[in-house]
Amino acid sequence: MSADEAEALRVRLTATQAQRLRELGADPLTLDAVYADATTRDAAFKQHEDGFVRDGRRRLQESRADGRAPLLVELETCLRTALGGAGFVEVVTPVIITTDALAKMGIGHAHPLREQVFWLDDGRCLRPMLAPNLYTLLRRLGRIWSRPFGIFEVGPCFRRDSKGASHLNEFTMLNLVELGRPAEQCRARLEELAALVMDATGIEEYALVRTESEVYGEMVDVEVKGAEVCSAGCGPNPLDGNWGIVEPWVGLGFGLERLIMARENYPNIERAGRSLSYVDGVRLNI
Ligand code: ATP
Ligand code: MG
Repeated sequence: MSADEAEALRVRLTATQAQRLRELGADPLTLDAVYADATTRDAAFKQHEDGFVRDGRRRLQESRADGRAPLLVELETCLRTALGGAGFVEVVTPVIITTDALAKMGIGHAHPLREQVFWLDDGRCLRPMLAPNLYTLLRRLGRIWSRPFGIFEVGPCFRRDSKGASHLNEFTMLNLVELGRPAEQCRARLEELAALVMDATGIEEYALVRTESEVYGEMVDVEVKGAEVCSAGCGPNPLDGNWGIVEPWVGLGFGLERLIMARENYPNIERAGRSLSYVDGVRLNI
């Protein structure tokens, strides 16, 4: 038998088996494995499935015994502590915002992000980002506080993003912004703040990559193994005039589920987000 013929006889996981293991969190190598015959494949599938079920049940048992918070909540707590320690002040702002606020972000008619907005009645929507609210607070607090000062918010954002392994309709954004440092310090400060968040998350290896944003123009993304976890930038920016901001700023927006996905090596973001199928990263049909 030729090598090609031998290869053709080797079998892969069935679609149902692959789907089951994917849901349980199997890595691509496991999903792509090739077996000598169907019996060997079915035995390997069973072994993987049993392993995931055992681990999942153990993890849920530990969560229950320790009263452990979900990874998302735990990460929010770590980030609050780290940012509070660095002098940032936490704010909580409305989840429902106005069309006007989006227009002031440059997201007017015909803008691509507009398609992704969950609209409510009366020209209001569920916020797709935290920036409009933070811009407003920067201006208002800027009348009162000396420079530099920083604020941050952690909270839900909503986008009709095409469903994929790294997009959720509702996700958790951390947005931090600092106003009033000299413009020439902004890039170094951006790197320092990215390091602060990545360190608090527990991710050592990441890269800063220059990109273009539909909203802000030139930006820096934080990437982990090529996957974006944050977009960041420095002002002044052409949008600032809409918000009455005239000083330099540095701002970073992280997706918390993306951070968890990167740190835990999850193949699918759903596992890290608000879910009825997973609790603390464990699939419940085990
Ligand atoms: P992408 O290009 O990956 O769709 P984006 O550039 O549109 O993301 P930003 O507007 O830069 O996203 O938002 C800041 C961060 O919020 C992103 O770096 C990402 O971590 C997170 N994020 C954005 N959209 C989603 C989503 N639909 N689901 C989960 N996280 C998201
Ligand atoms: Mg981005």
